Amino acid sequence: MKTVLRSISASHPDQADIAAAAAHIAAGDLVAMPTETVYGLAADAHNPAAVARIFAAKGRPTTDPLIVHIADVGQLADVATDFPPAFALLAETFWPGPLTILLPRHPALSTQITAGFDTVAVRMPAHPVALALIRASRTPLVAPSANLFSHPSPTTGMHVMHDLDGRIAMVLDAGPCRIGVESTIVDITQSPARILRQGDVSAEQLSTVLGEVHIVTRTLAASQAAPAPGMLLKHYAPRTPLMLLRGDSAAVRRTVLDAHAQKRIIWLCYAEDEAFAGMQGIDTMCLGAATDGAQIARSLFAALRAADAEGYALIVIAEPQGEGVAAAVRDRLYRAAEGVVHTLA
Ligand code: AMP
Ligand code: MG
Repeated sequence: MKTVLRSISASHPDQADIAAAAAHIAAGDLVAMPTETVYGLAADAHNPAAVARIFAAKGRPTTDPLIVHIADVGQLADVATDFPPAFALLAETFWPGPLTILLPRHPALSTQITAGFDTVAVRMPAHPVALALIRASRTPLVAPSANLFSHPSPTTGMHVMHDLDGRIAMVLDAGPCRIGVESTIVDITQSPARILRQGDVSAEQLSTVLGEVHIVTRTLAASQAAPAPGMLLKHYAPRTPLMLLRGDSAAVRRTVLDAHAQKRIIWLCYAEDEAFAGMQGIDTMCLGAATDGAQIARSLFAALRAADAEGYALIVIAEPQGEGVAAAVRDRLYRAAEGVVHTLA
């Protein structure tokens, strides 16, 4: 299949391009669309053949459920049911935005989407292109991240092309994603509510609406059966081995120097470390200032992909400090490192 790559304005999407993309959706084909988190691979939620194509194109196991994307809460009528009281408040506060909410599945919704579970994950993305495509398609769109399974999520149209060229109908390229890590997922079908995946909407923000919120820590080995879907430890992983460091700046620098003495490394560093690395002749990619969690989140997946393409023996990165989206970055790094954190004295 020839994949059409189409540049589109993020703020004022061209209606002809949106109509072309919606025609692919109507035909049961797949379209990669930008969202504020990462690029999503969209298909008509009510077309089982189209939904099956998503799993095939990504190489995604059918045990990993998909998020249903809507442009209007009215579209949930045949998607979810028995809405918990907290739902309306969450939707008013955080939608459109980077929050995915687990609701009881409507009996009419295919269990192929929910991987057999009786809950469905739903989100209203805050991106004009995604919203325009959902509206033009006149159906909710299922959309997992538009990458090959277990690769880092795509934050540019070129990342999508790298993984899926020839496997999907179209890519709508609106430039880099504003947030850069996947949405926060909260399960409000249980009490207290549980955060299944951290993202730009923080636990603190959710607790202002929900009261008590638990964060589910995800530390499963790939071989274990997951108690909830999508909890595989090895996820977001580059092919190059990745060494994840936890410690103060001096200890991180010592460890990087040691590694540099032994093999060809690249350091995904913070702005504060760039001059030091330059003096030592260490290759770097800068993620942003150490305290700028939002910039680090925006840079992370692109840096992992770029570092991976260069054939280094090792990628070294230190955990960012701080709360909010920095916590989501730590979670992604933890899994990219397959759960191994080097805690430095
Ligand atoms: P992606 O869109 O690629 O970020 O993947 C969607 C993720 O949403 C899955 O991997 C799961 O972690 C999560 N998810 C979707 N539906 C459910 C559900 N019904 N229960 C729990 N987690 C879900
Ligand atoms: Mg994904």
